[in-house]
Amino acid sequence: ISYEKAQYMQLNNVFPQVQMYEDPLLLHEGKMQWLFDYKGKRYLDMFGGIATVSVGHCHPKIIEAIAEQSGILGHVSGAYEHPKMYEYVESLVSKMPGDLKTVYLVNSGSEANELAMLLARLHTGNQDVLSIQNCYHGVSGNLHGLTALASAKFNNTPAGISIHHAMCPDVFKGIWGGRKCRDSPVQTQRSCECDRNHCRAADNYYEQLENIFSYSIPRGKVAGFFAESIQGVGGVVQFPRGYLKRVYELIRSNGGLCVADEVQTGFGRTGEHFWNFQSHGITPDIVTMAKGIGNGFPMAAVVTTSAIARSLNSAFHFNTFGGNPVSCAVGVSVLKVIEEEGLQQNCLDVGTYFLEKLCGMRREWKIIGDVRGKGLMIGVELIDGDQDDIDNIGVINPLNCRAVSRIKNDCLKMGLLFGVGGIRSNVLRFMPPMCVTKADVDFTIAVLRRAMQNYYE
Ligand code: PMP
Repeated sequence: ISYEKAQYMQLNNVFPQVQMYEDPLLLHEGKMQWLFDYKGKRYLDMFGGIATVSVGHCHPKIIEAIAEQSGILGHVSGAYEHPKMYEYVESLVSKMPGDLKTVYLVNSGSEANELAMLLARLHTGNQDVLSIQNCYHGVSGNLHGLTALASAKFNNTPAGISIHHAMCPDVFKGIWGGRKCRDSPVQTQRSCECDRNHCRAADNYYEQLENIFSYSIPRGKVAGFFAESIQGVGGVVQFPRGYLKRVYELIRSNGGLCVADEVQTGFGRTGEHFWNFQSHGITPDIVTMAKGIGNGFPMAAVVTTSAIARSLNSAFHFNTFGGNPVSCAVGVSVLKVIEEEGLQQNCLDVGTYFLEKLCGMRREWKIIGDVRGKGLMIGVELIDGDQDDIDNIGVINPLNCRAVSRIKNDCLKMGLLFGVGGIRSNVLRFMPPMCVTKADVDFTIAVLRRAMQNYYE
C-alpha cells in the first residue's frame, strides 16, 4: 500500500482505527534501531514501539525463531500444551527471584494486570486494591479504575470498584518534590540520599498512604497493591529511595499482595537489574510483564508463586492465544539475544552516556526542567520558566503541549522518533531498542539541540 493509497482510503473512511495518530507517518520497514517510511527515509527509533522492541526491529534471530516455529506448530489454544511452552517457562523462571515460578501466558499488559487483580482478590478474599496516582496499568475493564493518570481517562470510563490511589511520590513535581541532585547520571539512576526535600519525601508519601488505611480501607482488608517501579506513561517518574519497600511491608501486614508491573521496566531495560523492582530491594508476590517480552510480538505474562496460583482453581480463567507456540519461540529467542548480545549491560552503558549528555544539556537550556530515568528508560521534562523557580518559589510550570509537539515534530523531520508522556504531555520519553549505540545518542542529542534552537528562534 502506498502513502497516496492510504490517504485515499482515509478520505473514504476506510482505515484502521489507530488510537494515537499523532504523526502522519506510514512506516514500511524496520531494521534494528532504525525505521523507514514509504519513501525510504530513515528514522532513529528512540521509542521502540513504546519500550516494546527490546532487541531490535526485525532482529535476524527473532525472524529465524518465528520462521522455524511457524513451520512446526503455529497454534493449539490454551486447551493443550506444547514443548515450546515448557522451554519458554523454564527460561523465564530462571530470571525470576524467590518462589516466583508459576507462569500464566497471556496477550497484553492489560490482560496481565486484570489477571493479577483477579489473583490478588481470590487469594486474599479481599476486594480493595491500591495503586499510585499518575500510574498506567492498562485501560480495560477494571483497569480504568486502577490506572490513575488523568490524561488516560475520559469522563465516561468506568471507575472500577474499591480502588484507592496513593499520592504519587514524584521527587520532582510532587507536593514534597523540588529541585533534585540530578547533575550526574549516577545520582539520576540511583536516587541520591541527601538532606533536601526530594530525599526526605519518602516518609511524607508513606504517611499519606498509611492514612488511606486509617480512613478508607478496613485494616487487614486489602487485596493488592500495584506499582510500576518507574512510572512510564506517567512521564518516567522515579520514586524516592525506600518508599516501595516500606509500602510493601504495610500492604503485607494488612493482608494484601504486592504486584510489580514490569511491563515497561522489565527485561533488562533499566540496566542495573533484569527487573527494575530489584533495585528497590523488594520481591513482589506477582509480577506482570508485556511489551519487551516479545520484541513487538503480542504476548505477555503473569508470574507468581504456586500458592497464589492455586487460588485460581476456584475460578475460571482461559484465553485462546496465550502461550501460542510462535510467541513462546519468540520469547525464548528474546531472552537468548538479551543474554548473548549483552543488551542489559548496553542499556546501562549507553543509558549512562545518554543521561550524562542530557544532564549537560539541562545546564545549558532552561527549558529542560528535569532529566531522569535509568538505563534506556529516560525522561526529559520540559518546563516553561526558570529552573531556579523550582527551588525559590516551588513552582514548576510545564511547557505547553503545543510547544512540546513542535519540538517533537521538528525532530521527526530530522529523522528522530521518541514519545511524550506525563500528565501534561511535557515529558520526552526515550525507550529505544536495547541495541542503540553511543553514536545513536550523539545523533539524538544533536537533533534535540537543533529542535530546541528552532524553538527559541
Ligand atoms: N502497564 C504498563 C506499565 C504500561 O505501560 C502499559 C501500556 N502502556 C500497560 C500496563 C498495558 O499494556 P497493553 O497496552 O499491552 O495492554
